[in-house]
Amino acid sequence: MSDRGRVLVVTGGSRGIGAAVARRAAAEGWDVAVNYARDKAAADKVVAEVAAAGRRAAAIQGDMAIERDVVALFETAAALLGRIGGVVNNAGVVGSPAGRLDQASADMIARVVDLNVTGALLVAREAARRLSTARGGAGGAIVNVSSIAATLGAPGEYVWYAATKGAVDSMTVGLSRELAAEGVRVNAVSPGLIETDIHASGGQPDRLKRLGPSVPIGRAGTAEEVAETVVWLLSDAASYVTGANVRVSGGR
Ligand code: NAP
Repeated sequence: MSDRGRVLVVTGGSRGIGAAVARRAAAEGWDVAVNYARDKAAADKVVAEVAAAGRRAAAIQGDMAIERDVVALFETAAALLGRIGGVVNNAGVVGSPAGRLDQASADMIARVVDLNVTGALLVAREAARRLSTARGGAGGAIVNVSSIAATLGAPGEYVWYAATKGAVDSMTVGLSRELAAEGVRVNAVSPGLIETDIHASGGQPDRLKRLGPSVPIGRAGTAEEVAETVVWLLSDAASYVTGANVRVSGGR
């Protein structure tokens, strides 16, 4: 990896799974661009944790549903930290309130699609432009954060969200094949029920307590357990893994 640069961009890196990825990646020697949308204090805390691990980091504000913010994130990250070698396409929302699709508003569905589909595609596009050896890059790895909702469908809760993660899964397969001969591996991680703020953001603060025991392994997972798989997929230890989608879901 040394000739590729050890700079990692994590979208939505300030809280939850993204923050755990930033911390774990720092422990593996990555410098980290920590993107956030609103919560600067949370991003600054992750930057301090990366610095405490002896790596460089920068908190970079940007709404990943907006093209100019996506482009600016990559420009700023490269200017501050150097050549980008890894991208974790993680920023995502479930939309609120949870419920059946026949109760959902068009505005709410559009907001989720804008970030989870259009935004994720734009982040992947910028990653491809920076990393591909066919475009002057030095190669690297992209990890898309999907969800097991893509295959479970999230009935009664978040059908629109599940559909956006189905799009992430399709993008992962297609882009992995576009970039396979250009030095870039593209994989997805599909978390199950994970302890983060996303459930409260979706108006279901009790979701983990309610559903945790129904997971085959008997509990919800942690952001750190997801981060382990993400950082492995970024590493050279996964050098022959591309187009894969790893469920980190306790058997769900
Ligand atoms: P989270 O705890 O709610 O954190 C979301 C992160 O994304 C925050 O850093 C937030 O920053 C950022 N963010 C939100 N909107 C953004 C935007 N428009 N542009 C840039 N950043 C934005 O969520 P999480 O549970 O860690 O989820 C991370 C990913 O994992 C998502 O793609 C989610 O769909 C997926 N996932 C989660 C679970 C789960 O059970 N937790 C399960 C499956 C998949 P601010 O605080 O600044 O807004």
